Amino acid sequence: MRDGYRVFDTHTHLGAARHSGRTATAGELLRHMDRSGVDRSLLIPFPVVDDYRQQHNLIAAAIRAHPDRFTGAACLNPFVSPDEFQGEVRRCAEEFGFRALKLQPQYQPLNPVSRRSDFFFETAARYSLAVVAHTGSGAPFALPSLFISAARRFPELPIILGHAGGSVYYLEAIVAAQVCPNIFIELSSLMPHHCAEVIAHVEPLRLMAGSDLPESLEAEIGKLFTLDLTPETRRAILWETPLRVFGL
Ligand SMILES: [Zn+2]
Repeated sequence: MRDGYRVFDTHTHLGAARHSGRTATAGELLRHMDRSGVDRSLLIPFPVVDDYRQQHNLIAAAIRAHPDRFTGAACLNPFVSPDEFQGEVRRCAEEFGFRALKLQPQYQPLNPVSRRSDFFFETAARYSLAVVAHTGSGAPFALPSLFISAARRFPELPIILGHAGGSVYYLEAIVAAQVCPNIFIELSSLMPHHCAEVIAHVEPLRLMAGSDLPESLEAEIGKLFTLDLTPETRRAILWETPLRVFGL
């Protein structure tokens, strides 16, 4: 709780990253969450890892230990064999109860416009997982507008644009959300004035908060308290939207 609002951080990473050397444990994340008044976090593996099954196991263990604090997301290289991809996403959904599937086009170059990417979205839909797509850095495949195509091919599937396209492409994220009712926007990495512009154009029931990394958590959540928002808007962004989208 923070100032009377429940807070859901919809973008965090647990485990060990091969590309950056970063690590994060459940205990470390909980300490940061408690300091910033975060009730629940979506745990996502880093995009480049040595062993994605092991990273998913770590997230599953964190959820088992703290079911009231954590929700899980799967993330793996989409270009492993189709059977391996299916099998691992099924394991994450059915055995672990994960609620989302992450795509990080900067490190996992899947073209969301191509029908060759259908398997990714079909798999998420099959196991009732929301798609979290990193957007912004990693263009062109990480451009928010490319997910309009996927959102129209899979109109029942929630697609969350992580980082809202970043400060360069956030206007494109606004347009994507305006033309697709199943596109949602996660506001991490935007400056407060960018967030205000997104909030002015997209209904709060399609917006959510995220931190990405612990050292950004206080700034990312804090900006939603310093912006001049109605209590209803703040409550929707911080809690109600993610709860609904992740089916909790
Ligand atoms: Zn991320």
